[in-house]
Amino acid sequence: MEIFTYDYVIVGSGFGGSVAALRLSEKGYKVLVIEKGKWYQAEDFPKTNWNLKKWIWLPSIGFYGIMKMTFYRHIAILSGAGVGGGSLVYGNTLPKPKSNFYKNGTWAGLNDWESLLATHYDTALRMLGASYNPKLETGDVLLQQLAEKRNQKAAFQPTQVAIFFGEPEVEVSDPYFDGKGPSRVGCIHCGACMTGCRHNAKNTLDKNYLYLAQNLGAKIIAEQEVVDLKPIGNSQASLGYEVYYQNSTKLFKTKSKVIAKHVILAGGVLGTLGLLLKLKKTSLPNLSDQLGKNVLTNNEALIFSVSNQADIDLSKGIAIGSILDVDDKTHLEVVRYGERSGFWRIGVLPNVVGNNLITRLINMFGKYLFSPWQYIKTAWVKDFAKQSVVLLFMQQIDTTLQFKKGWFRLKSSVSSGKKPVAQIPLAYELAEEYSKLNHAKPMVFLTETILNMPSTAHILGGAVMGKTQYEGVIDADNHVFGYENLLVCDGSMISSNPGVNPSLSIAAITEHAMSKIPNK
Ligand SMILES: Cc1cc2nc3c(=O)[nH]c(=O)nc-3n(C[C@H](O)[C@H](O)[C@H](O)COP(=O)(O)OP(=O)(O)OC[C@H]3O[C@@H](n4cnc5c(N)ncnc54)[C@H](O)[C@@H]3O)c2cc1C
Ligand code: SF4
Repeated sequence: MEIFTYDYVIVGSGFGGSVAALRLSEKGYKVLVIEKGKWYQAEDFPKTNWNLKKWIWLPSIGFYGIMKMTFYRHIAILSGAGVGGGSLVYGNTLPKPKSNFYKNGTWAGLNDWESLLATHYDTALRMLGASYNPKLETGDVLLQQLAEKRNQKAAFQPTQVAIFFGEPEVEVSDPYFDGKGPSRVGCIHCGACMTGCRHNAKNTLDKNYLYLAQNLGAKIIAEQEVVDLKPIGNSQASLGYEVYYQNSTKLFKTKSKVIAKHVILAGGVLGTLGLLLKLKKTSLPNLSDQLGKNVLTNNEALIFSVSNQADIDLSKGIAIGSILDVDDKTHLEVVRYGERSGFWRIGVLPNVVGNNLITRLINMFGKYLFSPWQYIKTAWVKDFAKQSVVLLFMQQIDTTLQFKKGWFRLKSSVSSGKKPVAQIPLAYELAEEYSKLNHAKPMVFLTETILNMPSTAHILGGAVMGKTQYEGVIDADNHVFGYENLLVCDGSMISSNPGVNPSLSIAAITEHAMSKIPNK
């Protein structure tokens, strides 16, 4: 076993991990980032999402892509994997949450979060190269029409996104960091951001935070999964940790170890909770009993709107080009895939409501009987990506789940309060209205129609902030209760439902946590 020494080891290279890597490197610390996914270059991303080996992360069967799908009893979760974490697969959208976010949940009252974080949101937006989508395409124009129909014209706007909108296809030297960053190419509005941008226009984390951290000496290793942390010295880990990791893309696992004075857990909700819930039973027993509780989603509904018009092209544009503030707590976005990326067509059924399977099935067959020709046409569309959009509905309503350690992996349960549900009446109504404008039929993942299981790309919480270990897992500066030198900086720290896409908030809150760490 080879042994190195680092000031900070960061587990995972998503939004939390990347921000931490840069800020700690700037402060003079020796940093190692360990990432279990692959290190992708632009040309390595799949051309369509039918190339499952490059799109899906399922290493047990040799799929080393950028998106992970995980099914639990109460929820289906989409998340990212690879150097850059969820930024590789995400839709680039960076909205700021409304005021309620800062005043609810377990972090309420620990700080005046809205004013404290304002400067960190600005920094994160600048670092991620955020700008407004300059070009509304067909799917966005339809959302604009829906807004007008609902007398909400002013509530519609183009999204703020992490994309370089220079001259299409033209390469320029670093437009963001005074020449210290990599070159970029202008976006061609091909809609393929969520299968990985092959055109060097998407501002993924490997092109900003991680790139700059590496230039300052941070080391990043890919295809290695952290499996254990052992406190050195006393049980509070005042001397640091032994960090054990093993390869994640090889059949035969070899284990390695590094010594770190501090560890930052940034593996995303599933990575961080999976590791910590396992370690609470072994090497980290003092972790708070709140671990795994308060798991949130954005109360999402993902509804496909599949058009019958053969000559329409909904795949043009950026992944998420526009947003509608439906009300104080509710947002609707139009999401697209690039042409020929029609994988989801094999997993969708009509969008129906119903409290039990029988009612939902009756409603579904009723829909088939009522308009058979339209459903036949949606089933046989030539290019599913060109004839469909995904309506992403998000709502700031507090529903929670709990994750516990199961035999082989995490398991979900309903601990207290309401759980997230698949069928949300307002989402259903908006999808029907949007689809009418487009000669389309609303469809949802079959897990929703059959099992009533909601899906989310925004899993959050589980290692939330609190005043003490009886209310949360970490304090207001992200330090884990019960251990020294251990922090959580990723989606699992999010302590209230943002009601909008969360990556910007994860980056901003990590910027705040890092600002509290002194220079070396
Ligand atoms: C299809 C899709 C579209 C999305 N679109 C948007 C959007 O437009 N806007 C938005 O704000 N959000 C979007 N999201 C959500 C966003 O991607 C996540 O909220 C965000 O990436 C979470 O950041 P994080 O820091 O928690 O961790 P992640 O970004 O998930 O990164 C965690 C990383 O840690 C690695 N890891 C985990 N465990 C270990 C371990 N033990 N050892 C080593 N490495 C480990 C993982 O492989 C992963 O790369 C989208 C998500 C999906 C799936
Ligand atoms: S629309 Fe195409 S070119 Fe633009 S960022 Fe997305 S994938 Fe890259």
